[in-house]
Amino acid sequence: MKRISWDQYFMAQSHLLALRSTCTRLAVGATIVRDNRIIAGGYNGSVSGGVHCIDEGCYVIDGHCVRTIHAEMNAVIQCAKFGIPTNGAEIYVTHFPCLNCCKGLIQSGIKKVYYAEDYKNHPYALELFENAGVQVEQVELEEMILDFNSQEKLDLTAELLRKLSTSGLEEAELRPLYEKASKLFAGLK
Ligand SMILES: [Zn+2]
Ligand SMILES: [Zn+2]
Repeated sequence: MKRISWDQYFMAQSHLLALRSTCTRLAVGATIVRDNRIIAGGYNGSVSGGVHCIDEGCYVIDGHCVRTIHAEMNAVIQCAKFGIPTNGAEIYVTHFPCLNCCKGLIQSGIKKVYYAEDYKNHPYALELFENAGVQVEQVELEEMILDFNSQEKLDLTAELLRKLSTSGLEEAELRPLYEKASKLFAGLK
């Protein structure tokens, strides 16, 4: 059995958290990690007890929804609330953080930011990270990790393709199917 890597494990956790997001504009999740232990997590949502964008619509000012607290800040605030140091910790975020969150992360002492998807990556944020000595690395989530019967699907697809290849179908017709399948299943042979 192949073990999931730490990077993929923490990134998957952030993607799970994003499913709890209450703003319809973008679902973001963030996981703060220290010494390979999850110390906090957050998603973008309203203040506790507040109404949700998914129920009432977003509260948009100057093109931004102002109702929610971003996932990264919710995770940092959770640490503040319960007295957990963030100094020297790392954060896994589903999307590249906005400028304000980048500043907040720097001030909280976070030393490395892993993000899955590019999202309006601000050049000033990158400059601030660099000046503060914060490392930034993209870690894309391997989708299959959250697919619990991916092996069965892979086996079935491989079997179907094998049968098709012996059914007299032209190579030109088969190739796009193979390409599509190997894109979906990284391990298809
Ligand atoms: Zn909203
Ligand atoms: Zn933000």
